[in-house]
Amino acid sequence: MKKIVIPIGLVIVLIAGLMMSFSRGSAESPTFMREVLPKQDGFASVGNGTTGGASATEQNVFKVTNKKEFVAALKNRKNTAPKIVLVYGTIDFDTDDTGKSLTMKDYMADGYDFQQYLETHKPQSTAPKSLKDEQEAKRKASQKNQSKSITVHVPANTSIIGMDNAKLKGVNLVLDSDNVIIRNIQFESPYDYFLSWDPNDGPEGNWNSQYDSISIKGGTHIWIDHSSFQDGPETVEKYFGRKYEHRDGLVDITNEADYITISYSTFENHNKTMLIGSSDSKISDEGKLHVTLHHNYFHNVVQRLPRVRFGQVHVYNNYFASDTTNGEYAYAYSLGVGKNSQIYAENNVADIAGKDYTSFVKVFGGKQLTTVNNMFNGQIIDTFNDTLTPVDWKPELFTAIDPVNEVKENVLHNARPIKISQ
Ligand code: CA
Ligand code: CA
Repeated sequence: MKKIVIPIGLVIVLIAGLMMSFSRGSAESPTFMREVLPKQDGFASVGNGTTGGASATEQNVFKVTNKKEFVAALKNRKNTAPKIVLVYGTIDFDTDDTGKSLTMKDYMADGYDFQQYLETHKPQSTAPKSLKDEQEAKRKASQKNQSKSITVHVPANTSIIGMDNAKLKGVNLVLDSDNVIIRNIQFESPYDYFLSWDPNDGPEGNWNSQYDSISIKGGTHIWIDHSSFQDGPETVEKYFGRKYEHRDGLVDITNEADYITISYSTFENHNKTMLIGSSDSKISDEGKLHVTLHHNYFHNVVQRLPRVRFGQVHVYNNYFASDTTNGEYAYAYSLGVGKNSQIYAENNVADIAGKDYTSFVKVFGGKQLTTVNNMFNGQIIDTFNDTLTPVDWKPELFTAIDPVNEVKENVLHNARPIKISQ
């Protein structure tokens, strides 16, 4: 009989390989779905850190494949028992409980007539005020119908974890509680059918839409990681000479939200990407809005990457790229320096076609910005804007900061949902 000899070296390699594949794990394995924010990983690590639903009991692990199940898993906002929601496949939120698609018509309140809305709201309209008010009330009621369908509040101590190709389409997740983890999800931004016309927004007025993919409204200890955010197919419409913009933010951070880390995620094909602080008059945001953005990929997005008021925001090791110089997603700027904002930007890389470094920063009444070792179109730029002075804080919460020449490759490889084999 022939003896089969297995070299000990091979055995070690096999065991090591097996262990590695276990530790990478499927999302159902504790190593992924129960992962918590690493210590020191940005502002979400303040205090007890961000653990989401990591300690959920087995009954509080929900596997969801449709909107009804997703909503049911999260419906009780007062239930703060740790919970994990595992998302499988695509969930479209413009649907009813039976899964039937809901369109503009389905949401429309009786008597809402878009042509009449335009007629009564256009500049110098001679329509009676009562008719104008009636159409505005109908618009609001219609918008409320859609809002009810697509808005989901996430309770405290929750992890929402995407399985292979998990996609939340048209949802507006509202984070107004403490301790939430969102990982490995593709978001397609919600599409508002019932925009409001604000004649006093800017010199020419503006159409305003309501929904973000994620609205962090007062939420604290939030970790968004390895996710992607983008628009679905876009229809371009203009009324009263202004763009009828169906989409608002991708991730907007407002209402005294605090201690947030957003990492290894892609933001793509969108206009108003990330707003931190919603108004100059919201002085209650002063001392809040601590946000860390690292290893994110901002690709063909127009503006607000992010735009900040009041907050201390650490922006490091992100990669900004734009190859579109015209059209819907033409680049405007990256860092928006708004009222009392304190952005500290270091070791970021930007490759922006057809623009020079001055476009990287736009000032909206802010006075301070620190930039260290950022590369724009192949050159390290020390000062992006002469009118700004350095911020008066220094980041202390971060894990490791990559050398600037490694940022692009690292981000392009890792800033997206992870492939999970089950
Ligand atoms: Ca808006
Ligand atoms: Ca918003």
